[in-house]
Amino acid sequence: KYMTSAEIRQAFLEFFKQQGHEIVASSSLIPANDPTLMFTNAGMVQFKDVFLGTDKRNYTRATSSQRCVRAGGKHNDLENVGYTARHHTFFEMLGNFSFGDYFKQDAINFAWTFLTETLGLPKERLWVTVHHSDDEAERIWKEEIGVDPERFSKLDEDNFWSMGDTGPCGPCTEIFFDHGADVWGGPPGSPEEDGDRYIEIWNVVFMQYNRSADGEMTPLPKPSVDTGMGLERIAAVMQNVHSNYEIDMFQNLLKATAAAVGTTDMDNKSLRVIADHIRSCSFLIVDGVLPSNEGAGYVLRRIIRRAVRHGNKLGAKGPFFNQLVEALVKEMGEAYPELAEKQSQVERVLLKEEEQFAKTLDHGMRLLHEAIEGLDGTVIPGETVFKLYDTYGFPHDLTADVAREHELTIDEEGFEREMEAQRERARAAGKFSVDYNDAIKLEGETSFTGYELLESDASTV
Ligand code: ATP
Ligand code: MG
Ligand code: MG
Ligand code: MG
Repeated sequence: KYMTSAEIRQAFLEFFKQQGHEIVASSSLIPANDPTLMFTNAGMVQFKDVFLGTDKRNYTRATSSQRCVRAGGKHNDLENVGYTARHHTFFEMLGNFSFGDYFKQDAINFAWTFLTETLGLPKERLWVTVHHSDDEAERIWKEEIGVDPERFSKLDEDNFWSMGDTGPCGPCTEIFFDHGADVWGGPPGSPEEDGDRYIEIWNVVFMQYNRSADGEMTPLPKPSVDTGMGLERIAAVMQNVHSNYEIDMFQNLLKATAAAVGTTDMDNKSLRVIADHIRSCSFLIVDGVLPSNEGAGYVLRRIIRRAVRHGNKLGAKGPFFNQLVEALVKEMGEAYPELAEKQSQVERVLLKEEEQFAKTLDHGMRLLHEAIEGLDGTVIPGETVFKLYDTYGFPHDLTADVAREHELTIDEEGFEREMEAQRERARAAGKFSVDYNDAIKLEGETSFTGYELLESDASTV
């Protein structure tokens, strides 16, 4: 019998506790006091100031299972969902951290010991990369760990990790798992590395620098360690499946999704997309985000609408997305009590947004399909993308998602021109434009967000 995701999470935290690490709870998806980052995208985010030396804790070693969202900013996997076996918009990152305590040698040894001894993974299936400049890490891997040089390589950008454009960063070493010859893909650094055969499971970052807005890198007060391993990816390995979507945590969610949209086609890609999106959307709402037309709220709205569109494609007859919260709570409510507590609130927010989008979705889809049928070439014109956005509430990435399914692209520049023209018209008329999206009724109260739209939408659409 395989290890469940919950057992893996537990084993990880236990292992690092044994090594003197403090178990720290996951922080919110919305970083506290950090305007440089929209969403928590890694386990280190809640420790950023500790790395920078401006905050102190009463421990120098920590471990966590951190909820993460990668749907905007430097780390954005929204477009990968449904296309790779390993990317989610929401996932859990297992991590261990050293704040000026241990460094490369212990960090590498811990990771290797956990994988090969605690989890018992065969060494021949693990591949390792280090930063091309990092002779020390190379020496540790080759001489102390004894990793086979055949499965070892030195890379450049992929082995330098940063939280965002600014903040802590440093060279890293990564461990990959070979899912076997029946899966397409090539080893790290090869042209086929983006296939699903060699999956990056663990990144061990040697935090050494702070990057400022002008790109300058200054050394951190103390060399530190930050690691991240995707729970879903290591669960796939331990459960002998080749896709994250086949692990235990997704099974009930996929079934609930199929039932809610009324399909029996369990292999459908849209099903996986929806199962992914219900996780990010629910957790974002739990952490206080509401659908809106800017910032984090607009990312949430875009993800909800993408999910609704995929449900529509599968034949959903009415609101279905909010019905999946129950299955999610069953799966994750124990690890995240805040999710269970806010179940009905999450359902209400999703239902509201679904109902709102339902009013225009069918008409918009008809317009889009007509445009696609009448298309000369492979690029959907900016005017069409704009009309879908402006009149039917289609975020432009949703239109791009449909386009991609038809092996088409959208005219981004043309769309941006239309947006600019609209801003111009509004400025000339001396007023703000407001669309039907903007009146969002929540818990009896109408919040009108349209006035924020104009100045900020350039950065959010
Ligand atoms: P990839 O190259 O596969 O996109 P990454 O290099 O961007 O991954 P890191 O920033 O190094 O990922 O994050 C640390 C770990 O978190 C990864 O090794 C992986 O196990 C996990 N991870 C990263 N992004 C995702 C995602 N979108 N969904 C699930 N797990 C992820
Ligand atoms: Mg990535
Ligand atoms: Mg990578
Ligand atoms: Mg990585």
